[in-house]
Amino acid sequence: MFKKVLIANRGEIALRVNRACREMGIRTVAVHSTADATAMHVRLADESVCIGPPLARDSYLNMAAILSAAHITGAEAIHPGYGFLSENADFAEMVEAHGLAFIGPTAEHIRMMGDKIAAKDAMRSLGVPLVPGSDGALGSLEEAREVAERVKYPVLIKAAAGGGGRGMKVALSADELEEAWRVARTEAKAAFGNDAVYLEKYLDRPRHIELQVLADMYGNVVHFGERDCSLQRRHQKLVEEAGSPALTPGEREEIGAQVTQGLSKLGYRNAGTLEFLWQDGQFSFIEMNTRLQVEHPVTEMVSGVDLVKEQIRIAAGEPLGYGQEAVRFSGHAIECRITAEDPDTFVPSPGRVTTFHAPGGLGVRVDSALYSGYSVPSNYDSLVAKLIVHGTTRAEAIARMRRALEEMVVDGIKTTLPLHQRIMNDPQFQSGDYTIHWLERFVGLKD
Ligand code: ADP
Repeated sequence: MFKKVLIANRGEIALRVNRACREMGIRTVAVHSTADATAMHVRLADESVCIGPPLARDSYLNMAAILSAAHITGAEAIHPGYGFLSENADFAEMVEAHGLAFIGPTAEHIRMMGDKIAAKDAMRSLGVPLVPGSDGALGSLEEAREVAERVKYPVLIKAAAGGGGRGMKVALSADELEEAWRVARTEAKAAFGNDAVYLEKYLDRPRHIELQVLADMYGNVVHFGERDCSLQRRHQKLVEEAGSPALTPGEREEIGAQVTQGLSKLGYRNAGTLEFLWQDGQFSFIEMNTRLQVEHPVTEMVSGVDLVKEQIRIAAGEPLGYGQEAVRFSGHAIECRITAEDPDTFVPSPGRVTTFHAPGGLGVRVDSALYSGYSVPSNYDSLVAKLIVHGTTRAEAIARMRRALEEMVVDGIKTTLPLHQRIMNDPQFQSGDYTIHWLERFVGLKD
């Protein structure tokens, strides 16, 4: 096992990885920008190295500085968290070229899944069901028209290099196709430096259901069930649940078996998530994330497995040591992503937190790097806390989340706590009958 791991991230996820390492007896190295010198992830690590100025491109995305930090401190492995360099195949390659272990998949698989067209090709060949659409990148507007006529409107133009909901445009009818095509390509070029786009049928009432997997280096793959992440605003998740209120255990087993067999064939390793849209009992693959996800705690709460420890064990070459039958689920879990934003306008609200009080009690987990007196910098993502609850039933989890939200105090900045309270109190949410379009209507904001 590794003796020392460098955590190439900040905020709550850096703390999350730090916690797993400490419980495994592994020493930790935090890296930070000058804006994060007093951050909690720096305080709780064994050692820390400043890797640059506040701008992420000069610090948390600065591969040379991070590799130097690893060498200076004698770290043997790097955990990238999520975001930043976590899905950068070049970085994974560089880490290994320097004789360190990358706690994640191979560069080859990161690259493959980062290109959504290549990812869909791979899944097609493994027999995983896809959203109907173009077979690959669209060569011209004419080709887009032909495919749209075939799969029928509405359709979605999506960036091959997409992420974070950017470079994605809906065309409800043939009249809107040219505009969607043009805007999606322009956005894709600006955001990813790559204007390749493809087309998918736009599903009108799907749920976003994703499957968590872990794979070791010896072809053993298990899944940890699904997460329902249908509560989204601008294609960004706000609330996640495990399991999905819509899925039966039989449906879970069926898609799980298909996916684990496919990934074993592919030789995939470490953690990964396959994202699907689910409508009328039908799964359609949209993309694969080759990293730990923000919402992984809900899976940990229902399975009792520490996914980060598993990632580290796998990267150190240990076999999984158990099969699918050992993965058991108990109860229901919900996560609220609490961001430093105005709960009505979603305008970012960085600044000094005068009081932070975390809720507690049975079945409550808070993953946050906040503390009283901490100043939330304006340079990074606005996620400041994840509040996660577990209950024996979904109804109990909701009641627990409502109680925990009442107890939680973040003063000095605006947060989305009031919005989460509204969602938890809503009868439609409580019924479990919602799709990916529900939340946008609920917050009264449409794209
Ligand atoms: P990104 O990588 O930018 O997050 P995804 O492909 O993961 O893009 O899609 C993000 C979200 O956009 C999905 O969770 C879903 O809400 C919506 N979406 C994507 N594809 C479709 C589709 N074909 N029909 C309807 N909604 C879609």
